[in-house]
Amino acid sequence: MRYISTRGDAPSLGFEDVLLTGLATDGGLYVPESLPKFSLEEIRSWRGLSYAELAFKVMHPFVDDAIPADDFRAMLDETYNQFAHKAVAPLVQLDSNEWVMELFRGPTLAFKDFALQLLGRLLDYVLEKRKQHVVIMGATSGDTGSAAIEGCRHCEHVDIFILHPHERVSEVQRRQMTTVIGDNVHNIAVKGNFDDCQRMVKASFGDQSFLKGETQLVAVNSINWARIMAQIVYYFQASLALGGPDRSMAFSVPTGNFGDIFAGYLAREMGLPISQLVIATNRNDILHRFMSGNRYEKQQLEHTLSPSMDIMVSSNFERLLFDLHGRDGAAVRDLLERAQTEAVSIEDYRWKSARKLFDSDAVDDATTCEIIREVFDQNEYLLDPHTAIGVRAARNCRRDDSVPMITLGTAHPAKFPDAVKQSGMGVKPELPHHLADLFEREERYTVLDDDLKSVQDFIASHWKSA
Ligand SMILES: *Cc1c(COP(=O)(O)O)cnc(C)c1O
Repeated sequence: MRYISTRGDAPSLGFEDVLLTGLATDGGLYVPESLPKFSLEEIRSWRGLSYAELAFKVMHPFVDDAIPADDFRAMLDETYNQFAHKAVAPLVQLDSNEWVMELFRGPTLAFKDFALQLLGRLLDYVLEKRKQHVVIMGATSGDTGSAAIEGCRHCEHVDIFILHPHERVSEVQRRQMTTVIGDNVHNIAVKGNFDDCQRMVKASFGDQSFLKGETQLVAVNSINWARIMAQIVYYFQASLALGGPDRSMAFSVPTGNFGDIFAGYLAREMGLPISQLVIATNRNDILHRFMSGNRYEKQQLEHTLSPSMDIMVSSNFERLLFDLHGRDGAAVRDLLERAQTEAVSIEDYRWKSARKLFDSDAVDDATTCEIIREVFDQNEYLLDPHTAIGVRAARNCRRDDSVPMITLGTAHPAKFPDAVKQSGMGVKPELPHHLADLFEREERYTVLDDDLKSVQDFIASHWKSA
């Protein structure tokens, strides 16, 4: 399998290189040159497979001969055996034909575990083969950092440095990162805000000379293709559990960067019958404004009760735009360069073809709290604020009551106790058993000034062979 850039002007790569690359050299994102297609008959034959076995069927064509089948199977077993539920992605019924797929049963309680627990193992495997060592550097305001750390803690060939804004992440989120004790795990609390952290990461990727050519940086944000790939699997899992592929499904996906929902689009392109995808955003609603009015325009960032969806631009949306433009990289480049400074639109027929599949909704904080309360009243089931936005959008945008509507449950409510509290309910979400002692665990992190050189010196002197 070869991978090509959405801006059409970078070399094509194989799976191993795509794993170790963030942005393509032309500024684009990597996508498969062509997608594997599965017949209904083949998908039907997967009924009853375990999650790891299904993951193998769906992902193996992407990995291809980069990893021998038995090794890849073993990796998938190990990854999904760590989840605290035997079904890995269990479905919970909310109403006669309405469901939540719980994607928060992994070690760090958010759906990012599905991809990042696998990514750590993929990286280590490829690096062992190449006798190479890399440094992961990332900034986090929450879920990505803890999932990436947990996914890489056992890697021999990876050191991970995660920057978070000092005293500006929730205690649960901080502890999920800082209580992972390992020689290759380095938490840096920066005396600044999230944007300061992100700026330092960006600058370091742009000029890696502080590593003296002895190692290279690798990105673990959702521009990494392997993350998207791992998220395709659970769309198949949900469909098979509810009578697919012999009936079609609708999904509602809480999203910011368009990563998770793009995986659903790919599942459909690969042959899974999906009749509707609902884009559920918070007040940072660039995707909703595009889908409802064909206008893609950056606006000021707003801080909301669903912080993991607080974005201004939606990086993975570029991957959909590439397909909407008949895979014309030059057209995508032109559009996104203009989008840096102005509002842009696409041709009406292209936009209409997207609207055949996608609907969207933007949900504010007050409504988020309302829906948390409503679903608790109806079902005694507690939603986290991100999932609540998904449920609300699903109910608003539903086209056909006979089609199962599945909202992706992206986080456990105990990760966001403030939102639950603000929704005015007297219940407090408990951490699951495997994290019950989180507040007693030893923490380890280093506080540094908001200063690029201090951070880079720290990394240069703390990665493994330094
Ligand atoms: C990351 C995250 C999202 C958004 O995911 P996208 O990749 O932007 O689609 C939604 N909910 C939670 C809880 C998250 O951690």
